[in-house]
Amino acid sequence: MSVKVKVSEVFKSIQGEGIYAGSEQVFVRFFGCNLNCVFCDTKPDSFKEMDIDSVISEIGIYRDCRFISITGGEPLLQKGALKELLLKLKKEGKTIYLETNGVLYEALGEVIQYIDIIAMDFKLPSSTQDKDCSESHKLFLQIASDKDVFVKAVITPSTNTGDVMNAVRIIKGVSAYIPFVLQPVHPREKELTDKLAKLSVKAKDYLYDVRIIPQLHKIIGVR
Ligand code: SF4
Repeated sequence: MSVKVKVSEVFKSIQGEGIYAGSEQVFVRFFGCNLNCVFCDTKPDSFKEMDIDSVISEIGIYRDCRFISITGGEPLLQKGALKELLLKLKKEGKTIYLETNGVLYEALGEVIQYIDIIAMDFKLPSSTQDKDCSESHKLFLQIASDKDVFVKAVITPSTNTGDVMNAVRIIKGVSAYIPFVLQPVHPREKELTDKLAKLSVKAKDYLYDVRIIPQLHKIIGVR
C-alpha cells in the first residue's frame, strides 16, 4: 500500500521570509504542528490525505518552477511520507527548501540527504509564549549545518534580549557564519524598529551575518 501524506495545499508564490525572500517557489504545505506559537498564521486546520504520486502531479502543474518549498505546519512530523516525496522530487532535479520549526532533529537526520536548503526557525519562548526548545534547536542545527542553512527568529514586543542572545550563542557554537535573520512579527510595527536595531548590533558581536528581514509577502500582498 502506498504511503499517504496529509497536505493542506500546493500552490506557487514567492518566498516571503528569510534570505531567499523574493524567489519563486512551489509550496507544499504539510498538515500538523508540534508547537503552538502565539503569533502563528500558518498552522493549517484542514488537509487532504494524498498519495505521493498525486502530490507530485500537483507540483507538476507548475513545471516551470524547480524550487520546491516544503512547509507547514511542521513537515518533519510526517517523515516517512516526506522521505518518499523528496526522493521522487530529487529524481526530477528539483531544488528542495525545507521550512521547519527546528525541533525534530532525529527526523531531520533521516531526510537531510534529500534537502538542499534549510530555513530553520529558532523559537524564542518570550516571542512564542510556548515552551523553550533551545536544546532541540542546538541538536537540530548541528545536523542541519551539513547543508545550506539559515536561522530565523520572530521578534515581537514581548521578545527579551536574553532569549535572542541564547539563540546567538547556540548558532555561534555550531558556526558563526550561519546567517541569522531577525523577523519582525508585523512588517510595519514601528515600536519594534528600535528593538530590532539593538538586537542586531548585539548579535553582530558574535555572528558574521545578521539581517533584519520582514515578511515580504505581507508587504506586497501575495499569499
Ligand atoms: S511552529 Fe510554525 S506552524 Fe507551528 S505553531 Fe509555530 S508558527 Fe505555527
